[in-house]
Amino acid sequence: MYRDGARKSIWQEEIKRFSSETGFHHQYDAAIVGGGITGVSTALKLQQSGKKCILLEAANIGFGTTGGTTAHLNDFFDTTFKEAISDFGEDNAKLLAEVGQEAIGIIETNIRNYNIDCNFERKTAYLFALDEKQEKQLQDIVDGASEVGHEMRYVDEIPFPIPFKKAVSIPDQAQFHPIRYIKALAEAFINAGGMILEDCLCENYDEQEDEVILKTSKGEIRASNVVYATHIPPGLSILHTTNAPYRSYAMAFSLKDENYPKDLGYDLIDPYHYYRVQEINGEMLLIAGGEDHKTGHEEDTGECFSRLENYVRKYFDVETAYYSWSSQYYEPTDGFPYIGKLPGSKGKVYAATGFRGNGMIFGTISSQIISDLITDGSSKYENVFNPSRIKPIAGFTSFVEENAVVAYDFIKDKLFKEKITSLSDVTEGEAKVVKYEGDSYALYKETGGKVHLVKSTCPHAKCEVRWNSAELSWDCPCHGSRFNVNGKILTGPSVTALQRVDPEDSES
Ligand SMILES: Cc1cc2nc3c(=O)[nH]c(=O)nc-3n(C[C@H](O)[C@H](O)[C@H](O)COP(=O)(O)OP(=O)(O)OC[C@H]3O[C@@H](n4cnc5c(N)ncnc54)[C@H](O)[C@@H]3O)c2cc1C
Repeated sequence: MYRDGARKSIWQEEIKRFSSETGFHHQYDAAIVGGGITGVSTALKLQQSGKKCILLEAANIGFGTTGGTTAHLNDFFDTTFKEAISDFGEDNAKLLAEVGQEAIGIIETNIRNYNIDCNFERKTAYLFALDEKQEKQLQDIVDGASEVGHEMRYVDEIPFPIPFKKAVSIPDQAQFHPIRYIKALAEAFINAGGMILEDCLCENYDEQEDEVILKTSKGEIRASNVVYATHIPPGLSILHTTNAPYRSYAMAFSLKDENYPKDLGYDLIDPYHYYRVQEINGEMLLIAGGEDHKTGHEEDTGECFSRLENYVRKYFDVETAYYSWSSQYYEPTDGFPYIGKLPGSKGKVYAATGFRGNGMIFGTISSQIISDLITDGSSKYENVFNPSRIKPIAGFTSFVEENAVVAYDFIKDKLFKEKITSLSDVTEGEAKVVKYEGDSYALYKETGGKVHLVKSTCPHAKCEVRWNSAELSWDCPCHGSRFNVNGKILTGPSVTALQRVDPEDSES
């Protein structure tokens, strides 16, 4: 398995193993944890600036959401400029507006410097309103954009066969192949003297006066600075209460009429659908995404694919669905990402999270911000994206709501658990969290009868996991940790697996 789910994403074939079992030292200037776009970009940037770096990855490069993204490169975001102005003020909203083109510029420079073949293309994006409510939303988006000097123009036509009320075009956006890109960055990192260690889970850290000691599954590693580029930092942190895990679904289709839209598209439904094309193995495919929901809050995740496919088939002349996959992202409660010093750290540990659906951009800009903070001690973005910021107004309601949901999930799942008296009470292909002989188990019975039994309490914050039928995983609804049917960690923040139980012992 090269990705944190059972389904194959469109990018996955390009994943390559880098693992270096031997030859790593135990002392570095910087240890970067996490081999997605954030970690690989940051490791390369720091290595280029003269730091001796090691990149530590629990599984393989591209295993996390970067292997399950759709890789639109936008300079407008899920948090609109209107919302940014209202919650953070015009100056900070203008700073946010700079991030997009700066990050795309970093990507273009890397592509040029390292001669990377990653299908990078500049595109126009179209945002379109499908009803009157969305028209009003669109107008707000355009107004906010204009206040920060960002160009969005109303247009009469869009290159998508979807009836719309109003639409705008946004020039100078882009798309690329994310795995080809980070794979090349990882190679450049190694060529510059960097070290990559895969299958290395970082469990915790001890921050001392002059260094940080990282405890990992491959032993202790000491570094002057540590960067958690893990999408959400491991362990328990305030960032787990200010970020909520969500899942999004993507599918790639061939079209009978070959009428592939050339540009990027987004409607304004909540949750919105997003579109782009990609050529894979000589075949053009339309990638559509959407159907987002809070992790662990969808009874039947397989249904999300059916809904997405039905929606796409309504408008496009679909021939075959070649790929379908889902992945996880984090919603920050106040709408801005958290990039900088990890709250609670004495200043040597950094983190980058809360990217919403814009992590190609925020992950890339994190490499600039964090390397500036480590090498120069400051960044123009350090205050606005400060992970320790407290915004009493912005996001306060959603902060309270998200944490109320976590508390509710915690209690509800513990109270209402089905009791079974024998493992034969569960049918083949079924997965359930059950009470059995006084203990709680997450139980999955394969077709053919093989039973996978693990303790159902997530080791991170003791919530109960829920079944994700689409990716065959146990997902924690509280903070987004995910495990395979044998309890192995797929996604943090947990650094401990679900405890595995031998079904034979339980039956005896
Ligand atoms: C379906 C979907 C579509 C999206 N589409 C877009 C898009 O079009 N444009 C866009 O800009 N953004 C998009 N996003 C968001 C974007 O993909 C993510 O924000 C981005 O990939 C996050 O990258 P990352 O490097 O921070 O994290 P990841 O790619 O998740 O990488 C984190 C890595 O850290 C490793 N790790 C975790 N814990 C540990 C540990 N304790 N020790 C060692 N290693 C660890 C993991 O194994 C993983 O490989 C999308 C998200 C989803 C879910």
